[in-house]
Amino acid sequence: MADVVPKSWKPKADMQRIHVHWTAGGHKANSTDKAAYHILIEGDGDLVRGDKSIAANAKGSGMKQASHTLNANTGAIGVSMCCMAGARESPFDPGKFPMTEKQWNKMIEVVADLAETYGIMVTPVTILTHAEVWPNLHIKQKNKWDIVRRAFDSSTVGHKEVGDVMRAEIAAVMDRDLPEIPVDEIPQEMKPPKYRVSGVWPSTLNFRDAPNGKRVGSLPERTVVERLGVVDAWWRVRTRQGFIGWVFSDFLKPV
Ligand SMILES: [Zn+2]
Repeated sequence: MADVVPKSWKPKADMQRIHVHWTAGGHKANSTDKAAYHILIEGDGDLVRGDKSIAANAKGSGMKQASHTLNANTGAIGVSMCCMAGARESPFDPGKFPMTEKQWNKMIEVVADLAETYGIMVTPVTILTHAEVWPNLHIKQKNKWDIVRRAFDSSTVGHKEVGDVMRAEIAAVMDRDLPEIPVDEIPQEMKPPKYRVSGVWPSTLNFRDAPNGKRVGSLPERTVVERLGVVDAWWRVRTRQGFIGWVFSDFLKPV
């Protein structure tokens, strides 16, 4: 996909996750925001670069990290929407600087770009909101409810609900640029099988662009994939989010 985030903001680094926040500030990025996050999205959709490089949060970088998530900053890119100062969770009041649909949509494009750049899969443990960090990663946070509400959409409420909508939208943006899958050309015997990643935990299964090719992502234990093709021990698979790539078949078990 085209660069949404400028290339110079995306240094080479080994990153595992993207955490999406709101700043609990106004619609413009201030110095506190820039210290805490890598990328800020203002109310009108403009992007502001944080003070710290994304590479600072890579494991063992030796640089001072952007400190956006309690005890979970290493390997994690912090993206934040500038909004929600003075907001209240219950009864819900978005305050004077509600999240705008424009900045939400820009956030989706930003995260899709980062996910592609850093080879991060769209899963609930790799691309998540701050409110999902505790339930999904089991790392305790302090009353963080970003993001359990979208001010412009009263029908989606809850950390899982908002997170799932976010990931579906991110995956859809990433899928836009993928080639069509010629399903009719797949022989019948290769159509149905679904497999589950098995036996890689606590590591993950490498997801490659070709048989034994470049690593473009990783599949966590228990990820379900469809098999699209076979070359020796390498299988071409499609994830539920629509990613297509190659994996080593020893770690796939029939569902
Ligand atoms: Zn947060």
